[in-house]
Amino acid sequence: MDDVIIVGGGIGGLTLALMLHQRGIGARVHEAAPAIKPIGVGISLLPHASRELGLLGLADALGEVAVTTRDSRFFNRFGQFVYSEPVGRYAGYDWPQFQIHRGDLQQVLYRAYLDRAAGGAERVLTGHRCTGTDSDARGATAHFVDSATGRALPSTRGAAVVGCDGIHSVVRRQFFGDEGPPVYSGVNMWRGTTTWEPFLSGSTYLRAGWLTVGKMVIYPIRHNVDSQGRQMVNWVAEVQTDRYNEQDWDRVGRLEDFHHVFADWTFDWLDVAGLIRGAEQILEYPMVDRDPLPRWTHGRVTLLGDAAHPMYPRGSNGAGQAILDARALADCLQSHPSVPEALQAYERQRLAATAAVVHASRNAPPDVILKTVHERTGDRPFGRIEDVITTEEMASLSDSYKRVAGYDRESLSSRTRQ
Ligand SMILES: Cc1cc2nc3c(=O)[nH]c(=O)nc-3n(C[C@H](O)[C@H](O)[C@H](O)COP(=O)(O)OP(=O)(O)OC[C@H]3O[C@@H](n4cnc5c(N)ncnc54)[C@H](O)[C@@H]3O)c2cc1C
Repeated sequence: MDDVIIVGGGIGGLTLALMLHQRGIGARVHEAAPAIKPIGVGISLLPHASRELGLLGLADALGEVAVTTRDSRFFNRFGQFVYSEPVGRYAGYDWPQFQIHRGDLQQVLYRAYLDRAAGGAERVLTGHRCTGTDSDARGATAHFVDSATGRALPSTRGAAVVGCDGIHSVVRRQFFGDEGPPVYSGVNMWRGTTTWEPFLSGSTYLRAGWLTVGKMVIYPIRHNVDSQGRQMVNWVAEVQTDRYNEQDWDRVGRLEDFHHVFADWTFDWLDVAGLIRGAEQILEYPMVDRDPLPRWTHGRVTLLGDAAHPMYPRGSNGAGQAILDARALADCLQSHPSVPEALQAYERQRLAATAAVVHASRNAPPDVILKTVHERTGDRPFGRIEDVITTEEMASLSDSYKRVAGYDRESLSSRTRQ
């Protein structure tokens, strides 16, 4: 088979290149950024995703740079403990759960591809901004301009073109040009990293508060970043507000726009207000997604990851679903003699499954536990959590999201190790 042309060298695009290489299929990645260098903040890799990266032989490389998550804990905005559960291997999965800097994950994928694919460096071309695609009976072509100058670059032809170009996908826009901008959830996010002492288990994924009064997600993404054994701690402040700036991963956020919401969050187990004040950088980003599409595939061109199904980050599934897409697409390309049939088979396998995750991330992500507690207590401190909600009810809310997103322990364990 001719090479597969991948548009976008983010998490989905690089994972797809590695998956194809593992199956003996060549790929060329065209990335708009001038270089593959660490940008972004934290990402969670749940066991369904770390399983796929483990099968690519990347478990050790990830384990070296990431924090292996031990537990997930929930608190109200007064710092009262609500619920906790072990995760990943600590919950009996065959695969770990990781908390990782997005840039570290991208570097692990990028270096692995350079090491493994013959002529790897020539197979990942940066500074190439895709402007559109064509498809015919024998192949597909992607067109590019130089990201810096806007000058036209040579087009690239291959067996298929896969749009892995993220939430602002040009490939998607070519087929669904009248979609309009992504849908704003009414929640704005300020994201940052702070060098801080380990808190709780030292590897906890923490959620606290609720969106209408301020919610925090906090988790370490690098261990031992200084001589005092402190960590790089990733945090996301989520506040319901009409304030809306168009999404841009690099938009700088201002402390004065949101710190007041969390000013009294000084708990004996974590000084959240201090953590926010100590940020090395703050980025502002609206929580947005898009309605699921009726189709991704047009001839020999298809979509993958955020280009196909951007979702709210409330279930930590954006990167994970892109990784699952890459696995499914590589398998289909390997097992179907015809490329258009392979792309259709991939779409059948993944479109409805990811639409369900988009909807679940809107309506019933794991933090509905916090919403329920917030509503039942009228946003006041409680006496005993058992009088507000039972552990069984919270476990059931958490488990139902896992089932929709495809990382409940039973269904993951029942899959073969292939
Ligand atoms: C700079 C950046 C920072 C991010 N930071 C975070 C974060 O801190 N936390 C988090 O949870 N998620 C973050 N994300 C999103 C997260 O990586 C994705 O939701 C998830 O990994 C899905 O991956 P993806 O490959 O589909 O999309 P992405 O990882 O977004 O990758 C898309 C890639 O396509 C490239 N691209 C875009 N347009 C074109 C074009 N026309 N031609 C060629 N290439 C193009 C982009 O530069 C990018 O490298 C970030 C994404 C980006 C691009």
